[in-house]
Amino acid sequence: MIEIKDKKNCCGCSACYSICPKNCIEMKADREGFLYPKINKDLCINCGLCENVCPIINKVEEKVFEQEGYLVQNKDEKIRKESTSGGAFSAIAKYALDRKGVVFGVQYDENLNVIHSYIENESDLNLYRNSKYVQSRIGETFKQAKNFLDKDRWVCFSGTACQIEGLKKYLKKDYNKLITVDVVCRAVPSPLLWKKYVAYQKSKYGDDIKNILFRDKAFYGYNHSQISIQLSNGEKVYHNGLESDPMLRAMFLNICHRPSCYDNCVFKKQYRISDFTIWDCFVANKFTENLDDKGTTRVLIHTKKGIKIFNDIKNKVNYERIDINSLTKDVKELNTSVEMNYKRIDFVRDLQVLNGDELFNKYFRETLKIKIERTIRRLSAKLGIYSFIRCIYNKLK
Ligand SMILES: Cc1cc2nc3c(=O)[nH]c(=O)nc-3n(C[C@H](O)[C@H](O)[C@H](O)COP(=O)(O)OP(=O)(O)OC[C@H]3O[C@@H](n4cnc5c(N)ncnc54)[C@H](O)[C@@H]3O)c2cc1C
Ligand code: SF4
Ligand code: SF4
Ligand code: SF4
Repeated sequence: MIEIKDKKNCCGCSACYSICPKNCIEMKADREGFLYPKINKDLCINCGLCENVCPIINKVEEKVFEQEGYLVQNKDEKIRKESTSGGAFSAIAKYALDRKGVVFGVQYDENLNVIHSYIENESDLNLYRNSKYVQSRIGETFKQAKNFLDKDRWVCFSGTACQIEGLKKYLKKDYNKLITVDVVCRAVPSPLLWKKYVAYQKSKYGDDIKNILFRDKAFYGYNHSQISIQLSNGEKVYHNGLESDPMLRAMFLNICHRPSCYDNCVFKKQYRISDFTIWDCFVANKFTENLDDKGTTRVLIHTKKGIKIFNDIKNKVNYERIDINSLTKDVKELNTSVEMNYKRIDFVRDLQVLNGDELFNKYFRETLKIKIERTIRRLSAKLGIYSFIRCIYNKLK
């Protein structure tokens, strides 16, 4: 039976929970808010299935094989605007939906918890667009995906690399109609931190927050996307970027990630078992003049199935084929784990006792410099000269 002696050795994928024939594994949050399997030993029959499906105990050896690489922009501008980068995920997901299939992805529930779920209609795909930089709860989705596959339905499953490896271990066999898409992840921040962040924003903007967009491009464009808060009436009321938003600062300071994300994440590698790996490209113009700067997804295709699917969706996207070495050059998040911030121990201790306001004031107090920068950014965006000012600032820097 699974026993977690070192938290670094559990990525929280829930494969063990999903496979247990006695339902004696519960995924329980620890004091940092991350889920770990907890076994009811009275019910366990020692069948060993949980250990057999664990993607950390049973590491997939990285093997070099032929890949294809692309820069992708969804032709539907509304979709691209709603997406984190170029909207490649929506184009891939549509392939399954067009075949009466099912798409699994990450959305907010009614309390803004970050959860995996599935949809069957294209009109619901927007729930999954825009990355949520928090570890998602897999819940029952591995079992649901297997159910659909066993009924010969197309299934497109998206998630972090560890979630995709966990799913594949749980499924045990290849399914022709399964499409897997992993997002390159720097790391995943704590759901408890997210809870405190949501409460902190609700204390400022009220309870009717409908959506929190981690990467809203609407105000400063793709290259300086920032968190926006959308109220029930559609109004957006908060637009802070990574220099001042506490959630983004915590993420980029590596102060509150899951322990398995630090130092030696076994899922970070170029040759993966998913069909597609997708991530950002902020420098599309360095590769080609044919793509604009409004959002581009880098797409790395690992399988023949992936190549076939991409050929089928090419008419839905603008794309440029890119040599693999160029596509992956200097992309640290693909292969390298983040280093733990030395303040993490203090931060997660305080996370357990302080409310969001107290926590963020202690660790991410806004300096005068940050306030001045933000005012200049807002003013220049209102005057329509933000890109120009940014270009000058970057040159001076
Ligand atoms: C936690 C996390 C960290 C990331 N870190 C980086 C990074 O360091 N560098 C980089 O270049 N790109 C990173 N990405 C990927 C990037 O944010 C985009 O997902 C990617 O560019 C695809 O964009 P798109 O426009 O094609 O997809 P979109 O239409 O924006 O779709 C988003 C996709 O991400 C999935 N997703 C959303 N939130 C989560 C979550 N919490 N866990 C698992 N899956 C989720 C959705 O199901 C969907 O498949 C990260 C994504 C996540 C979720
Ligand atoms: S050994 Fe078998 S019964 Fe026990 S927890 Fe693991 S999967 Fe469940
Ligand atoms: S299967 Fe996943 S959740 Fe279970 S112990 Fe292994 S890594 Fe953790
Ligand atoms: S960094 Fe590694 S362990 Fe963390 S979410 Fe990404 S794939 Fe999983």
